[in-house]
Amino acid sequence: MKTDKRVLDILDAAQDGRATTKEECIFLLQFHETSLEAGLLRAVADAVTRRRFDNGGIVLGQIGIEIAACPGKCKFCSFGDGHTAFTPGVMSDEDILRSAGNFTASEELYALFLMTMHTFDFERLIHIVQMLKGRIPQETQIVVNIGDFDQSQARNLKSAGVNGAYHVCRLREGTDTALAPEERKATIRNIKDSGLDWYYCCEPIGPEHSPQELADQIFIGLEYGCFQHAAMRRVYIPSAPLSPQGQISELRLAQVTSVVALATLACPETKSIAVHEPNLLGLTAGANTVYAETGANPRDTEKNTTGNRGRDINVCKMMLYEAGFENLLTSPRKVVTLTDAYRQ
Ligand code: SF4
Repeated sequence: MKTDKRVLDILDAAQDGRATTKEECIFLLQFHETSLEAGLLRAVADAVTRRRFDNGGIVLGQIGIEIAACPGKCKFCSFGDGHTAFTPGVMSDEDILRSAGNFTASEELYALFLMTMHTFDFERLIHIVQMLKGRIPQETQIVVNIGDFDQSQARNLKSAGVNGAYHVCRLREGTDTALAPEERKATIRNIKDSGLDWYYCCEPIGPEHSPQELADQIFIGLEYGCFQHAAMRRVYIPSAPLSPQGQISELRLAQVTSVVALATLACPETKSIAVHEPNLLGLTAGANTVYAETGANPRDTEKNTTGNRGRDINVCKMMLYEAGFENLLTSPRKVVTLTDAYRQ
């Protein structure tokens, strides 16, 4: 079996620390996920990530604090207005505290994410952040995953104790969503300008997305300097308008994750690579970070994702262990060993 020579040259360069260019990413994404070339790509991205992050993994946890028919109308999301099957609901302060307590009790969570719909109550969000600040371990960071916000709101979030924000200009934003790509990018600039860590992702990947589209969207993360890059596939939701287009395999998702890992060698701001949802193929193909989830989840048909699609902290930690990671970064300053994770 002959291996494509250009692939070998790109992967050799990546092992020497040279970032993969956009043209090279497009080329690598053209191979089928079961090809020898895609297998070599995953192996090299895995080795590069382990060396880059000292064979350390990260567990993050997200609480979806509310459900509503969302005006984002994203054609892949279970909350989109016009196709959602959910009735609206908001988590109480007590329920949020309980979920945050479950996620942070072992003091292994690097950051706690709070997710809302595209439109949300900004004052209540600030209230929740301030409430959590005194109740979760001091080292645990707080990150928001919310709709678009302006510069003054970004500063208010930072003053309230928020460390970062997940915000994405998604694949086919404005076509498969009712949101404007330029507004998504304006919020990304607000995140960066206010000094918040910016979490990004190539998402939500479906079989219809071309290598060029994937690479263009991946490189937005490099252009603005993301703190975390990632890859996520679209999950089949029966009521979602894009569902007839199908779903990519975890193996294809791992291939995209590998490309993200090698492209971000050009981005000194990038401190971790995630794969959504948590899976071992991604964690052996260049990702070192997975998310636990509870409450509302745009990829679930259950109101509370716990026990359904959502994974808990221990499952995520065990997945990192099974993938061969030896260390767990539990805060920017603290690393614990994963060697005996199975004993707990
Ligand atoms: S992905 Fe976010 S913005 Fe889009 S419909 Fe779902 S909750 Fe709203």
